[in-house]
Amino acid sequence: MMFAVLATLIAAATEPMIPALLKGLLDQGFVSQTLPVWAIPLGLMGIFGLRGLAGFVAQYMLSYIANTGTLEMRQAMFAKLNKADPLLFQQQTASTLSNTVVYEVQNGANMLGGSWLTTMRDGMTLVALLAYLLFMNWKLTLIVLLLFPAIVWVMQVLSKRIYRITRHSQKATDSLAYVVEENVLAHRMIRLHNAQDQQLGRFQTLSLELKKLALKATVATAAMTPLTQLLAALALSIVLMIALWQSQSQGVTVGGFVGFVTAMLMLINPIKHLADVTGPLTRGLAALERGLELIDTVPTQSEGLYQSVRAQGTLEWRNVKVKYLGRDDFALDDVSLRIEPGQVVALVGASGSGKSTLVNLLPRFVRLESGCVLLDGRDIQSWKLDSLRSQIAFVSQDVIMLNDTIANNVSLGAAKDVDKVRSALHHANLLEWVEQLPYGIESLVGHNATELSGGQRQRLAIARALYKNAPILVLDEATSALDNQSERLIQQALEHLMQGRTTLMVAHRLSTIEHADRVIVFEKGRIVEQGDHKTLMSLNGAYAALQRSTMS
Ligand code: ADP
Ligand code: MG
Repeated sequence: MMFAVLATLIAAATEPMIPALLKGLLDQGFVSQTLPVWAIPLGLMGIFGLRGLAGFVAQYMLSYIANTGTLEMRQAMFAKLNKADPLLFQQQTASTLSNTVVYEVQNGANMLGGSWLTTMRDGMTLVALLAYLLFMNWKLTLIVLLLFPAIVWVMQVLSKRIYRITRHSQKATDSLAYVVEENVLAHRMIRLHNAQDQQLGRFQTLSLELKKLALKATVATAAMTPLTQLLAALALSIVLMIALWQSQSQGVTVGGFVGFVTAMLMLINPIKHLADVTGPLTRGLAALERGLELIDTVPTQSEGLYQSVRAQGTLEWRNVKVKYLGRDDFALDDVSLRIEPGQVVALVGASGSGKSTLVNLLPRFVRLESGCVLLDGRDIQSWKLDSLRSQIAFVSQDVIMLNDTIANNVSLGAAKDVDKVRSALHHANLLEWVEQLPYGIESLVGHNATELSGGQRQRLAIARALYKNAPILVLDEATSALDNQSERLIQQALEHLMQGRTTLMVAHRLSTIEHADRVIVFEKGRIVEQGDHKTLMSLNGAYAALQRSTMS
């Protein structure tokens, strides 16, 4: 950092040497009496050489600083992303977040890096030239200085405008990226419904807005240069007038006059650069601000200190209420439930009755409105998050896989033990199939494992749960999307998985529910009945009705 500043300083300090050299040349006395003529090319080369070297070093150092900063900031943002309160993902889309982390920081750092160099170099040049001018003729220089507030004012007004436009364009860019993201993910559905034109229209509206914003930004940026130059020209003409008048009355030397005017003309360039740089500087700041907002203002999910290597698995929900963002009704309304270690509990009820919400409370994916959830008699808020989550294996209807090898997907988050991976795949009824693949357990599964069939994906998820070997198992409609053949295979795999674990399963099929020690019936966020299958059937209430209508 120090080095970069020093190099910039040297580069700037060489500037006034040029008019000084000119003055020396023209006034003769200096060169011919004290220095030989060959000192002229030597001096000039020296000045430019020094200036070039210092400029080079400054630019390299600056790029180093900017890129180190980008690296650190990116890492901080990504770490934040993985620790943030889940609310973040309801408020910001994937494309917005990836824009911030991947694109905006880089952009911001580049713009700021580039502008910083100009600001430093031209700022210093300006100071050095002004110092020289003051030394030559302070009265004249004061007149030049009078125009500075006007220039600053112009810059301020325009840069505020650029800032507003930049924030606006960031939002527009996010929306545009979101449309692309959606169209990529839903490409089959969009083709099937022939919705391409609609989507193109949506895309065009947003691109048009971006175009308008970009043009507005150009107007603001481009206005800066002529306005400041006009002011500079005004200063120059006043100075020329006065200088001419002074030289007549007070006998200023030709060299002195030329030196002064040259230095003054040289002022225009740095002023122009400084004016030009306000645009990128403002845009860079706005981009970095967005990254800092992610790091500083997005809350990290709170956690307690309690840790346990392996929980017993007692679960309890006490008067739990959950309300989702932007909803008036409760997804869970005063639910209380206790499950002893090793019990298998089935959750049933119409879709939307709150079953998934109940199980998603356990790893703290959903925020409680009131009440509490306890694991081993301890409020889950007092658990350390990683310890809490290590107690839970989760298999849900929509399987999420990383674009990685089968072995890495199965052992996700833990150390990879090939024998354990094979054993997990074996118990998930998947090993035979995996061994046929050209690379076996090292085969890649593609983006979200789309290269696998539904049943295979499901069994892979079960293998992952087996590998995790957690005391609590959650199955959220793990088998509902499958055909009978794969279901039998999966059923076997699940039975293996459930052994010795506290199990919560959201299920529709009678064949699955019959294994449960207890069935809990949900209706509109409340528990309306509970007991085993037979008892509930004989009650002939909500459960019996549900059985008749949806389960077969
Ligand atoms: P089930 O699993 O029983 O089908 P859910 O627990 O998924 O039901 O949903 C319960 C209610 O909460 C539904 O009315 C659903 O629309 C709503 N809901 C679920 N997830 C969200 C969410 N992320 N944001 C807003 N509302 C949600
Ligand atoms: Mg559900």
